[in-house]
Amino acid sequence: IQKPGRTILASTISKIYDDEIRSKVETLKSTIPQGPLLVGFLANNDPAAEMYARWTQKTSESLGIRYELRKFDDKDLLEENIIEANNDDTVDGIMIYFPVFGNAQDQYLQQIVNKEKDVEGLNHVYYQNLYHNVRYLDEKKTLKSILPCTPLAIVKILEYLKIYNPLLPDGNQMYGKKCVVINRSEIVGRPLAALLANDGAIVYSVDVNNIQKFTRGESLKLIKHQVEDLGDYSDLLLKDVCKDADVIITGVPLENYKFPTEYIRDGAICINFSSFKNFAEDVKTKASLYVPMTGKVTIAMLLRNMLRLVDNRQKVKHI
Ligand code: NAD
Repeated sequence: IQKPGRTILASTISKIYDDEIRSKVETLKSTIPQGPLLVGFLANNDPAAEMYARWTQKTSESLGIRYELRKFDDKDLLEENIIEANNDDTVDGIMIYFPVFGNAQDQYLQQIVNKEKDVEGLNHVYYQNLYHNVRYLDEKKTLKSILPCTPLAIVKILEYLKIYNPLLPDGNQMYGKKCVVINRSEIVGRPLAALLANDGAIVYSVDVNNIQKFTRGESLKLIKHQVEDLGDYSDLLLKDVCKDADVIITGVPLENYKFPTEYIRDGAICINFSSFKNFAEDVKTKASLYVPMTGKVTIAMLLRNMLRLVDNRQKVKHI
């Protein structure tokens, strides 16, 4: 296959956060000499989750962070054990490997995690801040809000790929960029579309039912994004919104799903965050930059979130 562009691996991008994380852990040595503790809760048999947990452990330990995986065969034990970890001062961060129940009970479980320990940034306070484009937790703007780690990872990837333009004012650095996001889950796709639109992009958000447009309006007049329905999902509509897209991001959780390569404009950036490869091999004939997986950047972001939470907790103690 002829390759006009390049494939960029998540490990290349995650590496640049290693030093930042390691030196932050070092500065925490005076208060947490043994290193901060991240606890993962696993109550499913998903091999992808187990692998993700193992990667998280490996990365954490290589950066001076302690990691403990707590596994449960009985899903019903999870709630009380999370509450126990919430109340345990030696636990600095908590994450749950979803799906647990695979229904709305998972959203309940997610909100059980103390927001001061929620390294994945899934607490409703963080979502609300994201959707409302609020970037701090306090009025004095000393405590930075936490962002959900997978959408944040995609933002950091786009920064690395130089899609975010640092010459533009903060908060408008995606001005003029068109993005398509194939996934509108509450965990990744919808917050991601909102984040990119809040930063100035035009975002086409695609799910099985319909296609929506997220923008800050004409000339970025609005302070937060608005959403417009463009119509029911159809291949034709998808093809149309992809016509001049600068970035195509996929997150379809199906093994046999492949994004139609012919919808990608020459030189577009293609990023896949699904655990399945959503782009066909010939994506490389069209994409300028192609990121086949993003998991390692997500892990870097959750460790970064954890250190921010530790930081915020210490700041609150001193106020
Ligand atoms: P989900 O099932 O909640 O959501 C899937 C979304 O894709 C829905 O919006 C659905 O409508 C849409 N979709 C499905 N088929 C489609 C199609 N043919 N065309 C258009 N849209 C379609 O899943 P999720 O929790 O968002 O996870 C999605 C994938 O991302 C999974 O593979 C998961 O493992 C992976 N994931 C990766 C990371 C990471 O860090 N890389 C983090 C979280 C999830």
